[in-house]
Amino acid sequence: MAKKAFKSESKRLLDMMIHSIYTHKEIFLRELVSNASDSIDKLYYIALTDDNITFNKDDYYIRIETDEKNRTLTISDTGIGMSKEELEENLGTIAKSGSFDFKSDLEHEEDHDIIGQFGVGFYSAFMVADKVTVISKKYGEEDAYKWESEGADGYTVTKSAKDEVGTKIILTLKSNADEENYDEFLSEYTIRRIIKKYSDYIRYPIKMMVKKS
Ligand code: ADP
Ligand code: MG
Repeated sequence: MAKKAFKSESKRLLDMMIHSIYTHKEIFLRELVSNASDSIDKLYYIALTDDNITFNKDDYYIRIETDEKNRTLTISDTGIGMSKEELEENLGTIAKSGSFDFKSDLEHEEDHDIIGQFGVGFYSAFMVADKVTVISKKYGEEDAYKWESEGADGYTVTKSAKDEVGTKIILTLKSNADEENYDEFLSEYTIRRIIKKYSDYIRYPIKMMVKKS
């Protein structure tokens, strides 16, 4: 399966995230949870006017799953999901995203705190993961699709399987190296702490599941 190239601005942002020496890498979770929450909001607004769906509060939540054996951290939502085109558009061209005003001087070390101040979005996952897999099924569509990338050299989008509408993001954590310990993101305690710190305001339930090896 041939890889598709990221748009050049996105590639720069992505490169920055991959090689980031930023100390507060944990903010990636804030970004993914905020996207998950946005996606549930979108479905909620549709439900207000669409008689085909009723917004039953219990059906809408965010789930965080850790798997020690496979070293994965998975963030799932029961939100609106993404079509094949949206996976390409939204995840292949991040720099156009409203929340991140791309600045070239961001590459300088002293400006790295900008990462903490602004929503850097989806690509921040690459600060902690060397592979990111997104499986999504859009509301109103039959098929699910999988977007996958191992870094700045591109991504693939293939047909996949998913029963429920929504999005599942699987992070395969980087290997521990030097000072960095990515295993901490497999710890229930750490995840709960990060969620409490940055995502306490989220109005949907955040459920936690832990799979021990
Ligand atoms: P922003 O949230 O500021 O738009 P992001 O980089 O965080 O930028 O996300 C880019 C886009 O990808 C979002 O605008 C959204 O369209 C899409 N997206 C990301 N995560 C999800 C998700 N869990 N469900 C649906 N769409 C998503
Ligand atoms: Mg976002």
